[in-house]
Amino acid sequence: MGVPSAVPRRASRQVLVGGVAIGGDAPIVVQSMTNTDTADAEATVRQVLDLARAGSELVRITVNSPEAAAQVATIREKLDTAGCSVPLVGDFHFNGHRLLKQYPGCAEALAKYRINPGNVGHGKKRDDQFATMIEAACKYEKPVRIGVNWGSLDPELLARMMDENGRSAAPLDAGAVMREALIASALESAAQAVQWGLPAERIVISCKVSGVQDLVAVYRNLALRCDYALHLGLTEAGMGSKGIVASTAAMGILLQDGIGDTIRVSLTPEPNGDRTKEVIVAQELLQTMGLRSFTPLVTACPGCGRTTSTYFQELADKIQGYLRAQMPVWKAHYPGVEDMKVAVMGCVVNGPGESKHADIGISLPGTNEVPVAPVYVDGEKTVTLKGEHIAEEFQALVAGYVQQNYAAGAVRKRAHAHIPIKVA
Ligand code: SF4
Repeated sequence: MGVPSAVPRRASRQVLVGGVAIGGDAPIVVQSMTNTDTADAEATVRQVLDLARAGSELVRITVNSPEAAAQVATIREKLDTAGCSVPLVGDFHFNGHRLLKQYPGCAEALAKYRINPGNVGHGKKRDDQFATMIEAACKYEKPVRIGVNWGSLDPELLARMMDENGRSAAPLDAGAVMREALIASALESAAQAVQWGLPAERIVISCKVSGVQDLVAVYRNLALRCDYALHLGLTEAGMGSKGIVASTAAMGILLQDGIGDTIRVSLTPEPNGDRTKEVIVAQELLQTMGLRSFTPLVTACPGCGRTTSTYFQELADKIQGYLRAQMPVWKAHYPGVEDMKVAVMGCVVNGPGESKHADIGISLPGTNEVPVAPVYVDGEKTVTLKGEHIAEEFQALVAGYVQQNYAAGAVRKRAHAHIPIKVA
């Protein structure tokens, strides 16, 4: 019996955000968030453009003050003028009910409102203020993400559930109650929104926590209990490799379960670091899992004692950067190029074999090997490079391969297929 290579998606309602579909049979959407002061329209536009160019299909901006709300329509106009149609999502906390009422230009310019039910007020005010935001969503025909976060979980709801749990004959541990409270907060808030007139097809839900096992447990349960489109992400994932590993570990498990309609990787950038890293990680997560393709990926070996220089690592890095930089143009002219596989290998041990599996690959010489670099195209050795300009010559061969194989009317010599896994 063969194991299907594609992950069956959980059935969810489809939500349209601007022109982008989330859920249903739509591809899993990559989104990101700016870290600029939204009141600074110029800086925010620059960062949204960077994120959109990197491949973010939705960009969230914080709308935390009258000054920020006053700039949202301007930000939208400037993006449109720059030819960027990426939908903007407004992130509201505490005062969203006032801002959406007082700044109709903001309410109109945003493609979706993110509402955190834990930060919309307390007691009776909570329902009134939440209702005001849902009214705005209904009035402007916008979808809403009900985004619960364990760092700002509705304290009254949590206290109520802790009390009920304490009186129960078989009380759960505090972690289980907290997870249940997250889900209850999202589902109760969504039910209120529907009751106030927001169609279920305009609701996306998220329940973010910062622990991998908690996230997996929460979303598996959430997916069983509703068919709303789900926004997936590990909150406060952290910096560098820790943030990437934690996010991809958690989301990888859930995506493999078919759970998640849109993802965000919440990386803390290095000081002055590149915000677009979170977009690249999200794309690479989806692509390496075989769920979507964005950019040709380079297969490279880790190197070992058989390599005495960093030349092949530099070449692998340079080629990956080149491929990514070409994609804005290539995707318009060379459909399917995002699935191309390129290999850059460090020596003769696995170099020729891995290069043959790729569409185009190069096997660089290891220690004590003849200083030549055979190139393999569609599994066949075609040319051997040597000398000072191997990198430039290989890049030119890659560009030629793209033109020959992905231009309109080109017939690919071979197509990649997932290797079916056999089980006894
Ligand atoms: S392909 Fe060669 S250089 Fe690369 S890890 Fe394997 S043995 Fe080492």
